[in-house]
Amino acid sequence: MPKTITSPVPKFPGTVVLHDPLPLSAVVEWEEALADCKGHPCGAALKILSGMFAEGADRDAVAAEYAAHYADCVESDRRPRCLPGLSDTAAQARTMKAIRPCVAEWHVENFDLANPPGSPKASRSRFVAWLIKEITDLYTEEDPTGDPNASRPAPGTG
Ligand SMILES: [Zn+2]
Repeated sequence: MPKTITSPVPKFPGTVVLHDPLPLSAVVEWEEALADCKGHPCGAALKILSGMFAEGADRDAVAAEYAAHYADCVESDRRPRCLPGLSDTAAQARTMKAIRPCVAEWHVENFDLANPPGSPKASRSRFVAWLIKEITDLYTEEDPTGDPNASRPAPGTG
């Protein structure tokens, strides 16, 4: 059964119908997008980043050190070894691409799914966060426990 959700963001009113269940191909894209957003710091980068949590840490200095590190952290074939993750805005753009295959119907006139609006920033962020939460809820729904056949009448008694 597709799931209809209603936008809580006044700037972008409307409804969205999500595939339920989500297609396997869609969740593959979903996981890739989330991984891209998070980034993959290498061991050396993690060590630098842990400086953020030191007492009296100069967070700007740590961020600058990390930026300098990952710019040069590449494999011998120049593929990046250390991936920094995306800024909030870039992460939303990346995630929107992965949201598309999860959508069965789109009824939000002010928000073009194929070419999402960038502004106003606060409304856009809230709208994208809402979509991410709804899809995450669908994707991470708990496996029900119990006997799936328990409510069926036994053969010959129904
Ligand atoms: Zn690195």
